[in-house]
Amino acid sequence: MSGIKFCPECNNMLRPAEDRKEKKLRYVCDNCHHSEYSENARIYVNHIKTYQLEETDLHLDYGSDPTLPRTDRECDSCQQTEAVFFQVPNRKGEETMELEFRCVGCGKKLIHDHN
Ligand SMILES: [Zn+2]
Ligand SMILES: [Zn+2]
Repeated sequence: MSGIKFCPECNNMLRPAEDRKEKKLRYVCDNCHHSEYSENARIYVNHIKTYQLEETDLHLDYGSDPTLPRTDRECDSCQQTEAVFFQVPNRKGEETMELEFRCVGCGKKLIHDHN
């Protein structure tokens, strides 16, 4: 990422240094006091986006959603024997290969078991 840089003036190896005022990474030469800003590295990243998939964000009315595929799976909470399943979105909202099973009766997440 931030590779080693050399001074264009004297070929001394540049030392990375924070510029707190500009919030940038700077490279300075201890030999001739040349300094330059790094083009790509920002040392302070203020806007890291975090996506959190909350349980409450998932809609619970699975039984009435005709687009979801169904399978036989018994719910231990309400004795429903039907469950819907879908691919779990990852934090970016993209589908993953992981399947989640939800009871059509109560919306409870069913544990993966294979019988
Ligand atoms: Zn230099
Ligand atoms: Zn249930």
